Amino acid sequence: MDVTVFSTRGYDREFLDIANSAAGAPHVLHFIEAGLSKQTVALAKGATAICVFVNDRLDRTVLASLREQGTRLVALRSAGFNHVDLEAAETLGIAVARVPSYSPEAIAEHTIALILSLNRKLHRAYVRVREGNFALDGLLGFDLGKRTVGIVGTGKIGATVTRILGGFGCRILAFDPSPDADLVASGVEYVTFPELLQQADVISIHCPLTPQTHHLINGQALQLIRPGAMLINTSRGAVVDTRAVIEGLKSGKIGSLGLDVYEEEGDLFFRDLSDEMLQDDVFARLLTFPNVLITGHQAFFTREALSAIAETTIRNISTFETTGQAEYQIGTELLA
Ligand code: NAD
Repeated sequence: MDVTVFSTRGYDREFLDIANSAAGAPHVLHFIEAGLSKQTVALAKGATAICVFVNDRLDRTVLASLREQGTRLVALRSAGFNHVDLEAAETLGIAVARVPSYSPEAIAEHTIALILSLNRKLHRAYVRVREGNFALDGLLGFDLGKRTVGIVGTGKIGATVTRILGGFGCRILAFDPSPDADLVASGVEYVTFPELLQQADVISIHCPLTPQTHHLINGQALQLIRPGAMLINTSRGAVVDTRAVIEGLKSGKIGSLGLDVYEEEGDLFFRDLSDEMLQDDVFARLLTFPNVLITGHQAFFTREALSAIAETTIRNISTFETTGQAEYQIGTELLA
C-alpha cells in the first residue's frame, strides 16, 4: 500500500522502516517532515493510507480532502485519538486505526521521573553543581513513600504508575469512572474526584482528552487541592487549564508542576526552535517558575515503545489492506 507518513522525524523513519522490512516490505512509505493540516493535505495525494502523530490535525475539512484524494485509512502512531474527528471519518468512509497499547511502562516511568525530579529538585541541583554551587538551600524534598498520590485515570498507564508507586510505599488514591478491581485488591483506594484533589500530595493525570475531561484541572479544581500539592500531567495538554495553573503557581497553591504535554504544544513540540523567539507567552510564563519541569511530549520516547508503535502501525495497514479492517480500527463507539 502507498502510505504518506506525516510529521516524520529520523527516529520515526528508522523504526517504521525496520518494521516494514520485517513484515516483508509490503508497503511503500513516503516520509515527509511536515505535519498534516489543510495546507499540507495535498502531499498525501495518491496515498491509500496516511500515517500521523499526535499534533497532526484531522478535522472534517482535512478528512474530506483526504477522501477526495483517495485516502481510505488513517493510521495513528498513538493511542490517543483526540486529534481526529471520528464522526467525520465515519461519515466519509475513512477507516481510522491506532496503537492502543505500546508501552505503558514508558509513560509511567517518565511520570515517576518527573515526580522524583521535582520533589528532589534534580533540575535545579544539576545546574547548581555544574556552576560550583553546592549549597542545599531550596532543594528540600519529602519522603515520597510517606505521601498520598492521587491518580486520575487508571487505565493502562495509570495502573502501571500505581504499581510503581506501590513499591515506594505510597498511599494511592484513584479516580476513574471505571474502577479496576485488581487495583482495589492491590490496595488502591477509589475516591471521588473532589476527594482525590483534597487528599493527594501528588496528583497525576492519566485520563484521555475528551469533551468531559477538557480543562478537568481548572480554577475550581485547584481551589480543592492541598496547598503545595504537586501536579503532573503526562496525558494530554488540554486536560489542564494552563492559565489557571499559572495562577495556582503564583499563589503557591500548586507546590510544583511537571508537564510532558501542553495545550498549545502543536506549535512548539518535536522541533528545534532554539534559534527562534518564543511566541507563546503562556508557555514562556511557565518557564519562569523554578518549581516547574516541562518535557516536550517525550514520555513515550523509549526504544521499546517506538518499536511497538511501528510494528502495530505496519500491522494496522497490512490487515486493512488484506481484510478491509485494520487490526486496531476505532470508531465513534469510543466517543460514548
Ligand atoms: P487507557 O484507555 O488505558 O486509560 C484511560 C483511563 O482513563 C480509563 O480507565 C478511563 O476509564 C479513564 N477515564 C476516562 N474518563 C475519565 C475521567 N473523566 N476521569 C478519570 N478517568 C477517566 O489509556 P492509557 O493507555 O492509560 O493512556 C492514557 C492517556 O495517556 C492517553 O489517552 C493519552 O492521551 C496519554 N498518553 C500520553 C503519552 C505521552 O507520551 N505523554 C503517550 C501515550 C498516551
